Amino acid sequence: MASQTGQIVQESLNALMQDELFLPELQGLTRKQMFTSLTAILSTPNHIHKSFLRISLEDGRVVRIPAFRVQHNDTLGPYKGGIRFHESVNEDEVTNLAVLMTLKNALHEVPFGGGKGGVILNPRDFTEKELHLICKKYVQYFSDVLGPDKDIPAPDVGTGEREMDWMMAEYKSIRPGTPYRGSFTGKSVVNGGSLGRREATGKGVYFSFRYLLHDFVHEHSRWLAGSKNVFAQTALAYRDQPLTLAIQGFGNVGSVTANEAYHCTQLNNKVVAVSDRNVTVFNPEGLDIPALIDFVSKSAGDLPVSEEELTKAGVKASILDREEVLTLDVDVLFLAALEDQIHDRNKDQIKANIIVEGANAPITGEADRYLNEKGVMIIPDILANAGGVIVSYLEWLQGRETQFYSENEVYHLLSEKMKGTMNTILPQFFGDPYSLRQNCYIQAVLKLSTILYRQGKLY
Ligand code: NAD
Repeated sequence: MASQTGQIVQESLNALMQDELFLPELQGLTRKQMFTSLTAILSTPNHIHKSFLRISLEDGRVVRIPAFRVQHNDTLGPYKGGIRFHESVNEDEVTNLAVLMTLKNALHEVPFGGGKGGVILNPRDFTEKELHLICKKYVQYFSDVLGPDKDIPAPDVGTGEREMDWMMAEYKSIRPGTPYRGSFTGKSVVNGGSLGRREATGKGVYFSFRYLLHDFVHEHSRWLAGSKNVFAQTALAYRDQPLTLAIQGFGNVGSVTANEAYHCTQLNNKVVAVSDRNVTVFNPEGLDIPALIDFVSKSAGDLPVSEEELTKAGVKASILDREEVLTLDVDVLFLAALEDQIHDRNKDQIKANIIVEGANAPITGEADRYLNEKGVMIIPDILANAGGVIVSYLEWLQGRETQFYSENEVYHLLSEKMKGTMNTILPQFFGDPYSLRQNCYIQAVLKLSTILYRQGKLY
């Protein structure tokens, strides 16, 4: 695993070896041997499944589209992770994302392993009928390795509830008589999906930020004031201050995060910029987020790109270049688009003091180290964006029980789960020299190592 995620996993493993909580019952060479075994397990995926989906297009052409399912680790339960439809998907990227799923589930104690899927295509290049066929073929080609107790996909970039409904229906046809409802999550509510699943990731992203900067800081202000940790001072300095927010990505995650911020009464927030694949929309006085969401819902998902469209949306703002959202002079930057958005070439132009990762791995390893040293507080992906998989777990449970929760129950369970994780991680983070990302990775790896050891898998 020669990726940035792989490197951070390795660093976390090294830190774990020094940690007295890592297999305290063992000593010396035996402990070292267990550590070597753990490293070998976590640094390679269990399976990489790859295929070419053969599709007859409506114009008569026949194409073969590369598709992947990577199953990284199933120590905690069936593999779990989204399926991405995007033209830049590749095996390394899918593997990287599968590793993050293993760690995310371990961190939040969700009883799933880590997997991820990908198909190399731009969904906008295909008709609805062709996309339906692609979804069916994906399930046909990978049906042996998928299933409610084996590997449970969900939506990711380029896929949504429509695709999950199609895929679950195909799974049901291929495996009649099996408990098919739990084979895919992120389905439409009418088709066995959970209330609140679509909003879960964006709500969770905002919750992680609000909990850290409001609830936790208020409850622990005296202790934080006595800490020499630079991030404790940042958190205190931002307490109850008016904050400006910029959000990269205005899809499923970014638009919900923006809406949560817009309606938040605990923090004095102003969302001054949002962006998507085309533009940044900016107003230093604050944007009308509900009006933008309404516009996007009627424009195939895109933000206004001209004065004319801004007027049509009823939104006062200016249009900037797509990348400008990253370097605006704001307090908080939410990254909710794709990987590698802050990198070596733009890392020194970032002005936000707090970054929240709604997307997976949106900051490269080098940029992460640079920002961390500069004192920028980063709420990492596996902590912030777990709302989707937490509510996917609730959807899977509801499918098994054929009993469904109300929206309020779902949000309550989601916030309690995230609160539990943050109450474990934040005291460590504000009290030790590791970054919040390192703390989360170490906690996840510690959990996996304990279970692997108990299961007799380390030798
Ligand atoms: P989406 O497809 O709904 O939205 C993606 C958004 O990013 C769109 O607004 C798109 O226009 C924009 N975008 C694309 N390329 C861009 C670019 N180069 N610059 C700026 N914006 C760009 O996807 P989503 O479901 O919102 O997922 C966003 C990120 O969050 C992904 O990294 C995904 O893996 C991660 N994530 C999603 C979920 C979930 O439940 N949807 C869960 C965990 C993590």
